[in-house]
Amino acid sequence: MKKDSSLKFEHPLSGLYWRIAATFFLLLIITGIAYIYITVQTSRIHYEEVNQLLNRQIATHIAEQSNPYENGKINKPALEETFQRLMAINPSLEVYLLDIDGNILSYYAPHKKVILEKIRLDPLKKFLQTDGMEYILGDDPRHPGETKVFSAAPVYNEKIITGYFYAVLTSEEYNSVLKSLSSNFFIRIGIRSIILTLLATLIIGLFIIGIITKNYRKVFEVMQKFKQGDLDARVNVQSKGDVKQLAVIFNEMADILTENINKVNAIELLRRELIANISHDLKTPVSVIQGYAETLQMKELTLTDSDRRRYINTILQNTQKLEKLVNELFELSKLEANQVVPKMEPFSISELANDMYNKYQLIAKEKNILLETELSKDLPPVYADVSLIERVMQNLIDNAIKFTPEGGRIMIRTQRYDHIVEIIITDTGIGIPENEKGRIFTRNYRTTDNFIDLKDSAGLGLTIAEKILELHDSSLKLISKEKSGSSFSFSLPIYETK
Ligand code: ADP
Repeated sequence: MKKDSSLKFEHPLSGLYWRIAATFFLLLIITGIAYIYITVQTSRIHYEEVNQLLNRQIATHIAEQSNPYENGKINKPALEETFQRLMAINPSLEVYLLDIDGNILSYYAPHKKVILEKIRLDPLKKFLQTDGMEYILGDDPRHPGETKVFSAAPVYNEKIITGYFYAVLTSEEYNSVLKSLSSNFFIRIGIRSIILTLLATLIIGLFIIGIITKNYRKVFEVMQKFKQGDLDARVNVQSKGDVKQLAVIFNEMADILTENINKVNAIELLRRELIANISHDLKTPVSVIQGYAETLQMKELTLTDSDRRRYINTILQNTQKLEKLVNELFELSKLEANQVVPKMEPFSISELANDMYNKYQLIAKEKNILLETELSKDLPPVYADVSLIERVMQNLIDNAIKFTPEGGRIMIRTQRYDHIVEIIITDTGIGIPENEKGRIFTRNYRTTDNFIDLKDSAGLGLTIAEKILELHDSSLKLISKEKSGSSFSFSLPIYETK
């Protein structure tokens, strides 16, 4: 299936090229035929107009030269003879005598082919009114429904109009000669010029289409490369217009795609590292619990009471570690999946700091660390999620205690600025080396200091704190000097009543 689609993709432009070429060729043929048709029609009308203008007086001459009446009656044989003579001299003529209503009274037709009995008088009268200067078509007595150029003149009998002479100027004979000549002529001229024009235009057209599609072909080639996995493939099109736009859009799209692929790869790498670290972190307490539980089971009868108590204590401690780790993981995954929505409310940051002080004082004392507070007086309430901020402070104080050796000091301070309050937790602990400063906020990063007990440390505390502060449009700042302690701070907005 895959192969099929790539095959289809490989030749899109040869298809496009030939489709454009075929359409172009078809258009050329249609234009050629239309051109010939229009030329033939226009030249025919033009010829008829000239013919009518030149011969408009013919009927008048006939009327002047011949008198159709003899003793008040029409002399048909004499007339027919006149008509025959006229048509012999000018074979393009067909002459008729009409009565006052347009009925055909007399004519000469060698093959008796006259079909109409009556001619419409409207065109005839119009001809007489305009003296034949306009292009007017009248009935063709031999072909009902057809019209032709003609000449007409009134016939008088004792000064009264009794009828008309009606001369069709392009007789049937004339027409058949013209037809055979003209069709041959036009077909010859037409076909030759069509073929020549088509050939010339086709060659030039194909050449131009080739040039136009060449740039598109370039774009498609690069797309093909990109599709096959060359993520660095970009189009370098100098031309302007649509192709350039296509190239620019493709390049931008490729940049975004590559960037996203790199991001996904980086995330995937982090995820794998995280899973490896977490499994390691989970494994340690689990194997401790398992080992001690098994020993308890095996030596149930021989164990002293104090040993049993010690074993059970160790199991409990490790269970707590496991619980802490699982909880932190759960918390972080919820934060990363944006499932935590902070419940913003005004609260007193001094009160929270005091609560933390009370909570941690005993733990600090146990480690012989002095925990102090230095809170600005009359602090206005801040606007944040109190339980999330409590979590941030907890993580920072936990770390401060963890990384400060006995006899050290930890200070919780608040500092008011215009619209914010800064919370600073400073310790006199091991500090953070310059080269590790950038990494402590990443998941699973833990100090490499060998003197620190990292058994219950998963390297998630700062990452969680940072994520929570992100939700408050804030961030964690670190000031630290190696060997002389660290200082973590963050700020929260003051609650403004409007
Ligand atoms: P954990 O404390 O569980 O190891 P954290 O994400 O809270 O994970 O901290 C990551 C690392 O940052 C620690 O392992 C330590 O190297 C460094 N760190 C954090 N707080 C302090 C501190 N107060 N003093 C010195 N190092 C610290």
